[in-house]
Amino acid sequence: MFAPDDITDVQTDVLILGAGLAGLRAAWAARQAAPDQKVLVIGSRRGPGGASFANVHNELGMLVCRDADEEQALVRDALALAAPGWMDPALVRLLAGESRDRFDELTGIGFQLKTGPAGKVLRHPGCFRQGMPLAYVFADMTAAFYAMRAHVLEQGAGLQGGLTVLDLIRAGPHGNAPVVGACLITAGGRCVAVRAKAVVMALGGSATLFALNVAGGGTSGYPLALLHRAGAELVNAAYLQFLWNGPDRRFWPIQYLGRPGYRIRTADGRRHRVPEPVRVLAGERGLHGPAAYGRDDTALDRFVLDHLNPDGWVTIDAPRNRRVRIGLMAHAGNGGARIDTDGATRTAGLFACGECAGGMHGANRIGGAMVAATQVFGARAGAAAAHRAARDSLIRADHFREQLRRQTASLTTDLTERRLETAWLQAAMQRHALHGGGPGLPLFLDSCREKQTTVKDWRLKLLLESAMLICQAARQ
Ligand SMILES: Cc1cc2nc3c(=O)[nH]c(=O)nc-3n(C[C@H](O)[C@H](O)[C@H](O)COP(=O)(O)OP(=O)(O)OC[C@H]3O[C@@H](n4cnc5c(N)ncnc54)[C@H](O)[C@@H]3O)c2cc1C
Repeated sequence: MFAPDDITDVQTDVLILGAGLAGLRAAWAARQAAPDQKVLVIGSRRGPGGASFANVHNELGMLVCRDADEEQALVRDALALAAPGWMDPALVRLLAGESRDRFDELTGIGFQLKTGPAGKVLRHPGCFRQGMPLAYVFADMTAAFYAMRAHVLEQGAGLQGGLTVLDLIRAGPHGNAPVVGACLITAGGRCVAVRAKAVVMALGGSATLFALNVAGGGTSGYPLALLHRAGAELVNAAYLQFLWNGPDRRFWPIQYLGRPGYRIRTADGRRHRVPEPVRVLAGERGLHGPAAYGRDDTALDRFVLDHLNPDGWVTIDAPRNRRVRIGLMAHAGNGGARIDTDGATRTAGLFACGECAGGMHGANRIGGAMVAATQVFGARAGAAAAHRAARDSLIRADHFREQLRRQTASLTTDLTERRLETAWLQAAMQRHALHGGGPGLPLFLDSCREKQTTVKDWRLKLLLESAMLICQAARQ
């Protein structure tokens, strides 16, 4: 718990948590929708961060529909891929219908596109989709961050880095109390208590919960716990994307195992060829980078998982005496807070967008659809939050302080404990991650529950809760 002298009070009209593609787009839209409303964006980093601006590839594909035929094709294909997850057809129709305008706005503020031969801008098919190529690729996400940041500042929003979100503050202890702000912490341990009329959650995904991941720098991995604690309903929380990558975190195409000359070498020195019934699925598996849910070609991923070394990696003997090491790395989530077409969650005052919002993707997501979702639903959530803020008044300072005190009563930091237990958690999540979690899952969940009541560090509690939310969803 923070002593009163350790708390800095800040107030704004719209508070946006997260300075990735979704959060910055929300800020831009909020200022446009209600220019008299104060908008403040919070990020853990001062420079580029998150999956959007600090990912290993430094480039991102965005799905864009240029006409009605493309929109129809995208909606049809996305819905066909949704099972065993859930999808809201209204959200995917918006994604398709508004992607073009949001894309044109990004190029309008200086986002650069990757080009092919002779400088021609190309469109790409995108994972899980072999129809007409719909995705453009942004070339330099570091430069894109500075372009978007400059634009958002020009619009009059405030941007504050170096702060970590610890909790969303509600107006009271009852289940339907609106969200009225957030509790943040500086690197030096001071609390920054922000009162707001509307809050937009754009804190990204959960990939850092896994020992092997390609999460963007500066992501915390616990937005699901924050959303859940604030009363938001979660959808598709179990469906994260995993990619087979090398130690340099570069993608390795697992379908190569269907070709002659490729074998898995296990720790006992034995070499294993993919059996014929699985090998025939390699072509289909090659149509998407991430492992799929509910599709036959997942059998290839399962076969490889069955031959992991004790350290969680797989060794592959490739033609010309080459040897490759790959691991299954968490990449991005396909689920989050259930939102309506305005990005509103079921908790009043709380909006969500980007990777921590769900319903516009099912269990499997077409390549480029997440970047499109950050823009379409970032813009919608930001505008709706600003409209709410324009109608509402701020919670009284003394009521807010009282609620802050109540919610942060058990808020403790213990860095040593967090480091130690996070390593345990990430290793366990890696083991139980894929496709239902395996037979050890109930025991793992029991351990998480027990630890959650005994550990002291607040962020560790949030990580444990996020892990449980994902694993419980995977069991259902
Ligand atoms: C390597 C890689 C390649 C990808 N390629 C594609 C692609 O080609 N096409 C596609 O559509 N999708 C792709 N994705 C997924 C996509 O990039 C992300 O899902 C998307 O960018 C998420 O945007 P976001 O704004 O929701 O979250 P992020 O970009 O992750 O932003 C989250 C923000 O919240 C901040 N933050 C997080 N936790 C806290 C906290 N507790 N306190 C304070 N701040 C916090 C972060 O610093 C950051 O500012 C890829 C992902 C990765 C990792």
